[in-house]
Amino acid sequence: MRGPVGEAKSEPHLRVTEEEPEGSSDGETRAHPPLETDAIRVTSPPRVAAGLKSVLKAAEFVLKEPGLVRGAAALIRLNQFDGVDCPGCAWPDPDHDRSLNEYCENGVKAIAEEATTKRCTPDFFRSWSISELCKQSDYWLGHQGRLTHPLVLRAGSDHYEPIPWDDAFALIAAELNSLASPDQAIFYTSGRTSNEAAFLYQLFARQFGTNNLPDCSNLCHESSGLALREVIGVGKGTVKLEDFDPADTILIVGQNPGTNHPRMLATLQRAARRGATIVSINPLAEVGLTRFKHPKDVLHWFGPGTAIAKHFVQVRLSGDLAFFKGLCKEILEEEAKQPGKGINRPFIDQKTIGFADFQAALSAVSWDDIVEQSGVSRSQIREIAGVVMRSKAMIACWAMGLTQQRHAVATIQEIVNLMLLGGHIGRPGAGVCPVRGHSNVQGDRTMGIWERMPESFLNKLRDVFGFEPPRKHGWDVVGSIKAMHRGDAKVFFAMGGNFLSASPDTEFTAQALSSCNLTVHVSTKLNRAHVNPGKQALILPCLGRTDLDVQATGPQFVTVENSMGVVHTSRGSLQPPSDQLLSEPAIVAHLAIATLQSRTTVNWTHLVEDYSRIRDLIARVVPGCEDMNRRVQSKGGFYLPNAARDDDYRTKTGKAHFVVSTIEPIHLKPNQFLMTTLRTHDQYNTTVYGLDDRYRGIFHGRRVVLINPDDMREQGWRAGECVDITSHFCNNGTEELRYAPRFVAVPYAIPRRCVATYFPEANVLVPIGSVAARSNTPTSKAVIVSFAPSVDA
Ligand code: SF4
Repeated sequence: MRGPVGEAKSEPHLRVTEEEPEGSSDGETRAHPPLETDAIRVTSPPRVAAGLKSVLKAAEFVLKEPGLVRGAAALIRLNQFDGVDCPGCAWPDPDHDRSLNEYCENGVKAIAEEATTKRCTPDFFRSWSISELCKQSDYWLGHQGRLTHPLVLRAGSDHYEPIPWDDAFALIAAELNSLASPDQAIFYTSGRTSNEAAFLYQLFARQFGTNNLPDCSNLCHESSGLALREVIGVGKGTVKLEDFDPADTILIVGQNPGTNHPRMLATLQRAARRGATIVSINPLAEVGLTRFKHPKDVLHWFGPGTAIAKHFVQVRLSGDLAFFKGLCKEILEEEAKQPGKGINRPFIDQKTIGFADFQAALSAVSWDDIVEQSGVSRSQIREIAGVVMRSKAMIACWAMGLTQQRHAVATIQEIVNLMLLGGHIGRPGAGVCPVRGHSNVQGDRTMGIWERMPESFLNKLRDVFGFEPPRKHGWDVVGSIKAMHRGDAKVFFAMGGNFLSASPDTEFTAQALSSCNLTVHVSTKLNRAHVNPGKQALILPCLGRTDLDVQATGPQFVTVENSMGVVHTSRGSLQPPSDQLLSEPAIVAHLAIATLQSRTTVNWTHLVEDYSRIRDLIARVVPGCEDMNRRVQSKGGFYLPNAARDDDYRTKTGKAHFVVSTIEPIHLKPNQFLMTTLRTHDQYNTTVYGLDDRYRGIFHGRRVVLINPDDMREQGWRAGECVDITSHFCNNGTEELRYAPRFVAVPYAIPRRCVATYFPEANVLVPIGSVAARSNTPTSKAVIVSFAPSVDA
């Protein structure tokens, strides 16, 4: 490796202050004493999310990056019917009526980052070597501006230098075509990639001869897809946005919508105002679910805001499976006392299978185990079970707080068990809702970005394109990292994303990338993956979502799929930052032409001249996308079919399945804790917009660890103390240790023996071998750690 993987370390020097951080007067604060270091300032979290503060913060980012004129030009079209889709999260836009400002603070940050007027030119790379760049933080790297030229890092060099596009594609083609097997290449996709680019990309990879198509879904909702496909026959959520209106109960599990899907708060606010019961089930009681002031609601900027969740269940890390078992057990015990009170017997009899086994298994689970493993009292379980039993229409939402646990698949299936007990699937106002992170992560999978696409999809590719796709399953993200590390994969190509910061076990992943003969990143901005390259590396700069995309037949639009299965258009309009940029579909076409030459059956040039030609092919291959060009241009786009939403369960048995699972406790030694990683409010996935986490009262720094105050007292730690963290992982009987130095200890309302840190800083602690059972998703929400006073303090 050329140099250190991580960012420069902060130098925390303690200073206590009574003052609140600048501009934090939006609502009262909760009680714990403020604390400040020179690098990191900590105060009590606010009581209310969004409001005027959100508007001011958004304006600050616009003024700092694209400026008023360019920023306004982008924002006026954001999430509008014929506008540009937010490159942030995958929360859906209203199907019918949209306001002029249909976006949130973090959507503005995403747009400001992409539309910035800063430029990262070849001159920058002449000044900065890789050895110097890799000492900079992710935040610093991301703020050098938009990339303007294709760049190459030649073997043995320490500087990227410009390279003509044709030479770049020739270099990739030569490396790919010299591999002993197509399976020595890996083609990764991040969730921002459009449907058109994703479809072409998977087609290229399969014509090249491999199913090595890992994607960021492997790191987030893989557990959801697997769990749901098995038990309800569809690997996606079953609700529409309009279902939140009739729902009387909404469970929000392992999710922090205030930061990660902020417009969801407006939906929840409407539900709360009409009396729906919202239950937050999460180790941290996040402010977004406490109270919310809609930024558009000017008249209420100075009021107290709307209370969102009525109940906060502060479940232990990895305690969700036990908690949901507790809810189901309580309901079944009530049903036994008063038949008809707790469950929807006709639904269970007609639509499900496995109820008797489920009931028998649950009766054998002890309440002591449930309470101990969940960390939730019997009385609170009883209270929430009462809410569930009274519900006529319930929605269960979740995100990575669930999917990145060791028993994520079993936990999600336990939630489905709960939903099936009341018949809360397949009818209006009810259903499951895994809330997706990146704006087209769901669409990319629909387009065939998966290392294990079903035979039916591969057969369609064969029939439409006249070639035999490879059938052997490829590597997912964890499999790809291990393969690179072993030397079994030699070329790594990333369509977007920041693979190194998104992946677990940062040191291991960096070693994996650096052992490749060639790494290639299609990117808009500089990131950490670029500065931990292979023996040779390329950065291919591409158009962003907001950029005008003009091809041979004129301006183009692309399509994306949101979290609720709506496929719709996205049309950029801003002048691109450089005339050297190519669109992602064009990059794939050039790559395919250079690599496959006469071996391809596809006229790639013809396809990228007019993206509607790509959509015509998608329509012939992807189920539900028939007549795509016409339907996607109707107002708001179209819904993909979802049988479970229509009460039709396309499982092996034709019924929804109750599933039996067991609680497997995580045993901690007396000095050990369970760690979760989190995002700050100034962050979207690996993109760090700023250094504050306003909603948790943490400012000017990210190297913190949130610890229960009683645990701090018990361990004899002071607030603000600098600690080193070691993670512990048992790999076939051998204990592996990983180490991350210099985190500031912050007392925080988190369950006992649980701690939280930010990623990507703490990814170095997440063992590559620690994955969710069956989905292979890294267990970033359940890492065993211990602490020691920092040796450098
Ligand atoms: S909620 Fe998500 S999609 Fe909507 S504007 Fe905010 S970040 Fe963008």
